[in-house]
Amino acid sequence: MGIQEEFIFKIQPYITAWKKQFGFGVVSAIIGQACLESAYGTSEKASYNNYFGLKYKPNRVTCSIGTFSDTSYEQRTDGSYYQITTSWYMFADMNTGVEGYFQFINTGGYTEAKNQTTPEGYLTALKNAGYASSKKYVENVMRVVNTYNLTQFDEEETPMRYHVDPNRKPDSPLAKAVWTDHYCTYPRQTKKKPCEFTIIPHCTAGNSSAEATARYWASLPESKGASSHYIIDSKGVIVQNVPEDCRAWTTGGDIPKEKCPNHITGSEMDHQAITIEVANITREPDWCMSAEAINSLVNLMVDICKRNGISCLKYSANKALVGTPEQNVAAHRWFARKQCPGNFLYDNLAAVVTTVNLYLGTSPAPALVPCNGSYIINGLDYSVVFDPVYYSDKYSDLKAAFGTNADLLWKHFCDFGMNEFRQGSANFNPQVYKDNNPDVANSPYGEDNFGYYTHFVQFGQYEPRVHN
Ligand SMILES: [Zn+2]
Repeated sequence: MGIQEEFIFKIQPYITAWKKQFGFGVVSAIIGQACLESAYGTSEKASYNNYFGLKYKPNRVTCSIGTFSDTSYEQRTDGSYYQITTSWYMFADMNTGVEGYFQFINTGGYTEAKNQTTPEGYLTALKNAGYASSKKYVENVMRVVNTYNLTQFDEEETPMRYHVDPNRKPDSPLAKAVWTDHYCTYPRQTKKKPCEFTIIPHCTAGNSSAEATARYWASLPESKGASSHYIIDSKGVIVQNVPEDCRAWTTGGDIPKEKCPNHITGSEMDHQAITIEVANITREPDWCMSAEAINSLVNLMVDICKRNGISCLKYSANKALVGTPEQNVAAHRWFARKQCPGNFLYDNLAAVVTTVNLYLGTSPAPALVPCNGSYIINGLDYSVVFDPVYYSDKYSDLKAAFGTNADLLWKHFCDFGMNEFRQGSANFNPQVYKDNNPDVANSPYGEDNFGYYTHFVQFGQYEPRVHN
């Protein structure tokens, strides 16, 4: 999340709550006003919890804790600007800051605004009643409303909330549980047509710790907002936010049903999917992720598949396959006008899925691609750990059985050699690699002997590691 989204998620629940209390207002328009007036919560006035540029007027607002002096620019009807120094309301916190806005508007002069139900209608009526002097006020606020799709907060929806037992253990042994109740609906409809089981990785558009993101979501009042089954941060820490048997609020989109892939909306996907938010170390356009985060993503996906009886992930970056048995990984951008999961993860999703499948396929033996002089397993080139001449010379039993037949030696290496931790090339000694690289031994790559060869092929050969 960027600071804009963070501010929106923070202030929206208060606006929704006070709107219900006062019985008027259009949530999207009021969030837009707060964004614009407070520069997304970063302005001087916002530091006094005055998010709406509320000037002091005697007997108008009762929930303030005093006033402060500050300047602002006002616009004359001829378009020119002038500066004023005046007193502004000061509030104790965001909650009373929002309450103050409603008290401020709750007078006879704004009767017309109180009858409005659309953001344009509401803002126009406020402007006509003298709320703001800027000539382009309505236009400017509406730009914010549209950019952040704020009208989603105008819809009334009260799904059945599921209250998570705080003592419940995480579903994944790789995760720490920080549950949220509010954006968690029971049950998730697993293995039900048309979506089947799907995993949807997302990008958080921010770089907070997984726990901070989870606690932030969990701290929001019950209202519309965000959650995901898992959150992974840039250090690779995994937090579980919503139980796997519940629906998380992650993928809901703004693309109409008839234009969604196979007419399956983002919210419908949420009812079927397990969602994973991954933190970013850069912002747009690439939204890069750390190696630790990607590593955790792979490990978590393997774990989810194993526990949910999924033997293979299928992904071909083709949104036409959403909801078919041909694809069980999907991208948020297919359902919403968003970049999610960002270019970096979107471009690497096929590689992530291939790696996950490699783990899932390691037992009992990796799928063998016909040799033909190359040593490929599941798309990875193992020639750096396998040299048929070396292999035959090193092991007399193999030389007796296969001579110098490279295809047969390679088949033995795949079927038995790696499981027996045999050395396939002068360049790579698996026992030395294991003994000198405890981080590999402690990772899922260290779960079986084959994993050490794979780790060296994928990463180790490019890194300063002891390997022979
Ligand atoms: Zn997303």
